[in-house]
Amino acid sequence: MQERYEPHRFEGKWQARWEEAGIFRAGSRPGAPKKYILEMLPYPSGTMHMGHVRNYLIGDVFARYFWMRGFDVLHPIGWDAFGLPAENAAIQDGVHPAIRTRENIVSFKREIRSLGYSYDWSREITTSDSDYYRWNQWFFTQMLAKGLVYRRFSRVNWCTGCLTVIANEQVKDGRCERCDSEVVDKQLPEWAFRITRYSDRLLEGLAGLDEWPERIVSMQRNWIGRSEGVEVDFRVQGAPEAIRIFTTRVDTLFGSTYLVLAPDHPAVSKITSESHRSSVEQFAGRMSSLRRVDRTAEGAEREGVFTGAHALHPLTGQPLPIWIANFVLADYGTGAVMSVPAHDARDFAFAKKYGLPISIVVQPDASHPLSLEAIKEAYTDDGLLVASGEFSGLTSSAARELISRKLEAEGKGKRVVVYRQKDWGFSRQRYWGTPIPIIYCERCDPQHQGIPVAEKDLPVLLPDIDVQAVLTGKGEPPLAKVPSFVNTRCPRCGGPGRREVETMDTFVDSSWYYARYLSPHDHTAPFERRTADHWLPVDIYVGGPEHAVMHLLYFRFWSRVMQELGLTSNEEPVKRLITQGIVNAADGRKMSKRWGNVVAPASIVQKYGADTARTYVLFAGPPERDFDWSDEQVEGAHRFLKRVWALAAQHQSLAVVPLGAEPIEGRALEIRRAAHKCVKRVGEAIERLSFNTAISGIMELVNALYAVGEPRGEGEKYAVREAIRLLALILNPFAPHLAEEIAEAYGGAESLARQAWPSFDPKLVVDEVLPYAVQVNGKLRAEIRVPADSDEAEVRAVAEMEEKIRSSLAGKNLRKIVFVPKRLINFVVS
Ligand SMILES: [Zn+2]
Ligand SMILES: [Zn+2]
Repeated sequence: MQERYEPHRFEGKWQARWEEAGIFRAGSRPGAPKKYILEMLPYPSGTMHMGHVRNYLIGDVFARYFWMRGFDVLHPIGWDAFGLPAENAAIQDGVHPAIRTRENIVSFKREIRSLGYSYDWSREITTSDSDYYRWNQWFFTQMLAKGLVYRRFSRVNWCTGCLTVIANEQVKDGRCERCDSEVVDKQLPEWAFRITRYSDRLLEGLAGLDEWPERIVSMQRNWIGRSEGVEVDFRVQGAPEAIRIFTTRVDTLFGSTYLVLAPDHPAVSKITSESHRSSVEQFAGRMSSLRRVDRTAEGAEREGVFTGAHALHPLTGQPLPIWIANFVLADYGTGAVMSVPAHDARDFAFAKKYGLPISIVVQPDASHPLSLEAIKEAYTDDGLLVASGEFSGLTSSAARELISRKLEAEGKGKRVVVYRQKDWGFSRQRYWGTPIPIIYCERCDPQHQGIPVAEKDLPVLLPDIDVQAVLTGKGEPPLAKVPSFVNTRCPRCGGPGRREVETMDTFVDSSWYYARYLSPHDHTAPFERRTADHWLPVDIYVGGPEHAVMHLLYFRFWSRVMQELGLTSNEEPVKRLITQGIVNAADGRKMSKRWGNVVAPASIVQKYGADTARTYVLFAGPPERDFDWSDEQVEGAHRFLKRVWALAAQHQSLAVVPLGAEPIEGRALEIRRAAHKCVKRVGEAIERLSFNTAISGIMELVNALYAVGEPRGEGEKYAVREAIRLLALILNPFAPHLAEEIAEAYGGAESLARQAWPSFDPKLVVDEVLPYAVQVNGKLRAEIRVPADSDEAEVRAVAEMEEKIRSSLAGKNLRKIVFVPKRLINFVVS
């Protein structure tokens, strides 16, 4: 080995060798237990950012580690290649999205390769290839046949910049998260997946996800939002209409003093009295011009108007005024609520504002009853019922049961379970996506329900287009402007038909890609059942926590659909989920072009080599936490690797020392103990996702080996030789190029990836106990016994437990501590 550590001399060599030898090909260890390790499907932007580096490294450490532990590992990668950014860029600079995407993939891939990730490149997939998206279309037709896909009209968030529908989660303060343009409400026909048919199963499945972060599980639980309650019908006085409301607090039914409808509730125009019509219409008109997100925002002022109509209380027959207000939405729940101001904060504020009656029907405590004079805010907890007819005196929970029964018996209500989760609208008015395989025919399908393209006619290819002509115009979706695509034959009657011009949301692509990796070149099916049964579920899935409720819920849904289609036997797609933290800039802010604080991974690789970039990012903090970039720590990681290199170079003459004999005395034994303990510690740290402590363990071993200096005698030579062998093996998941280079210099014939993770000798990792002298101002005061590898803090803690030491230190000023490892600790006081 040469003296200097020059990673650029050998990193590329190892990357090429791994790939040529197919070292990381899944399936190359038949009969071995499997591990499927996956990072979230990347969108190939032109350059990698540090978040990508970290994401893939977490997966990579596990993949390399499990190969060494004897597993057959599947660690694939591919490209989430459809989507808006490529299309928006095309509009800006006139390059076709397909070309831009291909260029991006080439450069992104080059960067990924330069970091030495252990991917099985033979399974690479690109979602914008028709080989891939034809299966999106196939799933669509299968799901359509099962009633899991349907067409609906709905109110959507329309981005005026991206010219497409965006999800609620992508609207930030009324603006598009992606392009910052204004978002408006629009009524549009759209295609939707009936994910709500699976709400209960998605919820039940959460209980089994014990290797997912609790935070993600509870976000999904809230998102699905199951609640039990009662639908109650209120008849309208003097009109045939009935208003249906939903409540989870039917125990407060007797405290309901008015009803509120959405301004566009269908009953409003029928029940509004003549004297109130103009104010109601004016209010409703104003509301329809507002965005729903603004109307219902947390801090938005609640406002409403009286319709002049009254509803009859279902149990007392008392007339209750009917209002309309901004905070009730027509398509949320039943579009109407019963207001119980004494026991609901929003209703309380509204009643106070408009002078509506308040009636207390639940008391917290019989001995300190609430009174209307004293009540300052709504009492929202359970309690004992009062002023509730035959139900007075019951607890809230008993009352909920008995009032529900009575309403059901009288046909005035029924118990229901409702979910907050909505169906998944997935059609987009954009070009760069999977065409929806539907044809409209005026003759066979006058209602425009859509006729699916026959399986034999799939894929429906996304047509090549003239970017300028098709993408830059406003109005219709781009595909509508491509006559050769639109005009086709009706699959039923053979007459003229028109193709659906909308494309699929890219969340469709990422809902099942993990299964396509199992047989990426299959032309007859999305994947093979046999391989799916072998590899699924994914054992470890790594990605950002921002995907908690969209991607991660969609693919849990899709996994259930695939199971029902007989494609897989698993209900849940992923066993263990790891959500990585953010790599912030050195100034603590997000890395962003806007702040000019972005550190490009390529620049780090270029300056220091891939192993430094890897070691730094893995050492900077636990994978699930955020950290701030630090140039000094990058230097530190680089210095550490230089020390590893120099150490291996220094002792290279020991490569000829045969391993096998076991000298066990003196300093040789100490060296062996340090190395074996390190092996134990690093393995355990990897298993519990503590890569930073694994690396600090390796650093300690390197320090210990430096402290040895030149080994003397056969025993020490053996021990150092063994320690360097172990060092290369345990360094391999973190700095694999350096580890391989050392192993090769020491005569290793096979890539480390194929070597077994070292086992440690249990006899050598038992803690040895050492005597320490404890001094105060240089005078011996006590002797203690502590584990041999204790550090200063641990020794100090044990010393301070000694009575003699405590009394010598009492009332004194501690000036400093002198610590001599393995010998003494001296408290200097005045
Ligand atoms: Zn936008
Ligand atoms: Zn037809």
